[in-house]
Amino acid sequence: MSFIDATLTIPLGGPTLPQERRLVTALPGPRSQELLARKAAAVAAGVGHTVPIHAVAAGGGVVVDADGNSLIDLGSGIAVTTVGSAHPKVAAAIAAQAAQFTHTCFMISPYEDYVAVAEALNRLTPGDHEKKTALFNSGAEAVENAVKIARKATGRQAVVAFDHAYHGRTNLTMGLTAKAMPYKSGFGPFAGEIYRAPMSYPYRDGLSGADAAARAISIMDKQIGAANLAAVIIEPIQGEGGFIVPAEGFLPAIVDWCRANGVVFIADEVQSGFARTGVMFASELFGIVPDLVTTAKGIAGGMPLAAVTGRAEIMDASHSGGLGGTYGGNPVACAAALASIEAFENEGLLERAREIGEILRARLESMQAGDPRIGEVRGFGAMIAAEFVDPATKAPDAALTAAVAKAAIAEGVIVLTCGTYGNVVRFLPPLSIGDNLLHEGLDVVAAALAAA
Ligand SMILES: *Cc1c(COP(=O)(O)O)cnc(C)c1O
Repeated sequence: MSFIDATLTIPLGGPTLPQERRLVTALPGPRSQELLARKAAAVAAGVGHTVPIHAVAAGGGVVVDADGNSLIDLGSGIAVTTVGSAHPKVAAAIAAQAAQFTHTCFMISPYEDYVAVAEALNRLTPGDHEKKTALFNSGAEAVENAVKIARKATGRQAVVAFDHAYHGRTNLTMGLTAKAMPYKSGFGPFAGEIYRAPMSYPYRDGLSGADAAARAISIMDKQIGAANLAAVIIEPIQGEGGFIVPAEGFLPAIVDWCRANGVVFIADEVQSGFARTGVMFASELFGIVPDLVTTAKGIAGGMPLAAVTGRAEIMDASHSGGLGGTYGGNPVACAAALASIEAFENEGLLERAREIGEILRARLESMQAGDPRIGEVRGFGAMIAAEFVDPATKAPDAALTAAVAKAAIAEGVIVLTCGTYGNVVRFLPPLSIGDNLLHEGLDVVAAALAAA
């Protein structure tokens, strides 16, 4: 039995949805409440949710729920619907491919769209060296494979990840992830040969990029030993950890050290990639060329797809049959990726991300000027965050952060939090959002902060 009342007009998704914030009930409304009760009864308790609604449509800059409420989307389903939800060309590509064939398994019978996605990623990722790509289903799976590939290519085992890192929820990627709650607690033991180095976090450590890199390199050199180290993995701008932007010079120094020591440098661009920061990949902002890049989230307009792209000699070190998976590079997901990549390249989305960044930064900095509880505003493009603190001590203020997010959501604005200390509100709007909605969403956040 469908829960949705047949008499209720369900709008089609995509950019034709009325672009407005509209609350016709308190959240959650009665239909969402009914669905949330079913969720609680049927879905494992460990699978939480942030916004107490059930979605029926999304597009442009809104998510519409089962009661007809229309919420402003400042989260993109965690940086996934960067081209917009149900982008017409992506939806058409998905429908056409689904009608043609849905699966053969690329390892059984290859098909062109997988190869075309690999060609596009080889072209778009930083650096003009020869590259190869392998496709997977999720960001965590891409990270797992990047580590596999680096170990095989180097014959070494150790892997370094950083403080505040987030790399996923599978066993290896939980081990790479820094934060215990909610990602790791009780889910161990974790994989071996994972080491942690200190991150550059200029707001909190006050170190220059060079000094922060020297601190990390000392640990890699003295406590792990370069000769044992297969790979260093880092998010150029950390996502879940708090949108931490390393000090200038930090990443290039780490890359130089890796290259001098035969260590594979992996940039995890799962959250920061695909036009998010106003360039195709955040590595470009820091002038670095990674050996391997992991991508997922924004790659395919919401379809599950992920990739490892990198130096041909590293990617080709794995024996035939050593990489793959039943669904990796599914043809429907690949068709969605090709349509999304075309949108990134031909619909001015890099410029749009930069415009959104200017609006976000200006509005958040003006809030900060009148409210010292905003300790720092940081990020690039449509990946910008505000860190909330006790103004006297700079101590993280997670309670304020949670209160602001909760109040904004209750008023129909989807905002997400993040940060090791839970004290960062992050803004990840779809690039299809209009200026008016973006401003209205920020008005609501400002009012929530003023009232908190
Ligand atoms: C989300 C994320 C992952 C994990 O991706 P999934 O698709 O959820 O497995 C890995 N790395 C980073 C930087 C992420 O933001």
